[in-house]
Amino acid sequence: ESITVGELALRLKATAAEVIKKLMANGVFASINDEVDFDTASVVAMEFHAKVEKEVEVTIEEQIIDDSEDTDADLETRAPVVVVMGHVDHGKTSLLDAIRHTNVTESEAGGITQHIGAYQVNLDGRMVTFLDTPGHEAFTTMRARGAMATDIAVLVVAADDGVMPQTVEAIHHAKAAKVNIIVAINKIDKPGANPEHVMEELTKYELVPEEWGGDVPCIRVSAKQKTGIKDLLEMILLVADMKELKANPNRAAKGVVIEARLDKGRGPIATMLVQNGTLHIGDIIVAGTSVGRVRAMASASGKEIEAAAPSVPVEITGLDSVPTGGDTFNAVSDERLARQLVEQRRTAQKEELFNSRTKVTLDNLFEQMQIGDMKELQIIVKADVQGSVEAVRQSLEKLSNEEVRVNVIHGGVGAISESDVMLASASNAIIVGFNVRPDPVAEENAKRDGVDLRLYRVIYDCIQEIDSAMKGMLAPKF
Ligand code: GDP
Repeated sequence: ESITVGELALRLKATAAEVIKKLMANGVFASINDEVDFDTASVVAMEFHAKVEKEVEVTIEEQIIDDSEDTDADLETRAPVVVVMGHVDHGKTSLLDAIRHTNVTESEAGGITQHIGAYQVNLDGRMVTFLDTPGHEAFTTMRARGAMATDIAVLVVAADDGVMPQTVEAIHHAKAAKVNIIVAINKIDKPGANPEHVMEELTKYELVPEEWGGDVPCIRVSAKQKTGIKDLLEMILLVADMKELKANPNRAAKGVVIEARLDKGRGPIATMLVQNGTLHIGDIIVAGTSVGRVRAMASASGKEIEAAAPSVPVEITGLDSVPTGGDTFNAVSDERLARQLVEQRRTAQKEELFNSRTKVTLDNLFEQMQIGDMKELQIIVKADVQGSVEAVRQSLEKLSNEEVRVNVIHGGVGAISESDVMLASASNAIIVGFNVRPDPVAEENAKRDGVDLRLYRVIYDCIQEIDSAMKGMLAPKF
């Protein structure tokens, strides 16, 4: 937000001397190449009977994504989006199946319902959308990526088992996301079922059942015998009514990618949940770093459809790559700019990948040196005898050249341990071992953290390999 005196003069169709004079009159002593700020430029411009306006940079996003607010008049009621969470074996999958089968008419489904990550059921003409990946991992991944797709969480608790560790986790996830919780007390058909006990346990986590004066609906169900399912759906709709869930179907679609995969014949396939607007066949869409035109669109019951309104999950083809679950998508107005936007995002993503401290390995060492990220190669040396540790340290440090310094940050006798891996991970180091092995936990952690761990029998091999890696001449491994 500044401009040089020369540029300002040019814009004011004045000479630089005239502008400098006016600046001086206002107590600002600047030469032709100096920059003045917006306010100073405004004052001077006024004296030339001109006006200065801030130049706003318009991003591609702003050009092609309609980000305007909806007015109340535009908004229509939409279906609630529901996720099912709970402890393993408490019946999440069974419940999702039971809901689906009590309400999906076989004729509509053509007998085959496909799993696309979400489905809709119809209760007396009103729709409810379920995300049908049970558990809170998908939910949390999505939330971590900034996509708030869910309105209501159904917490499944088995009546014979009660509140278990993952139940508590699910409660915390739902609360953190500020979604409404409805408890489905499942397996009430079982002899040992004790719904009151479940409710009592829930109060410890500040979930007070409605029938005890709280605000948490608890519905007794049996996913196995398909009882209570309708009550549960009715409760979901009641909570949805209270929340007054609305969207504007008459605008460009936006929403979130639920899941995506690559199909050999059809290319990238993505399940999208429309959150606002309506998605049409032929729309140009940007989803994370993917772009394309919606070629085909199918509902969760496998029916080809032309358009998808808010809260409707659809499976689409036509993207140029596979987006990531949790990516947001937008229908946009200009294909050329859409492609540019995706290019920008891909570049940004690549940079981010490098900046998020890609762990150094012998395979990417040279590349990282090239982009100027590696000034020091940190190495941890473990060996069976102290003599080897010292020998390796000296040989390795001698490999230092102008571009990169080899630095042995830790050396010791014995197996490669968990703490070696921790140190390597934190310091972006690689680990070399001579006639020693990593213990199982260390090996596991190294894999998880992407720490490069190399084992040798002969010192010469190690020196040779690291030397080659530094020169970008490491033989590829097959
Ligand atoms: P998830 O791990 O939470 O998805 O649980 P599942 O849906 O896989 O169910 C775990 C086990 O509980 C399965 O053997 C189901 O048949 C059984 N189950 C689920 N719901 C009920 C129910 O309402 N009653 C009874 N008796 N068993 C159930």
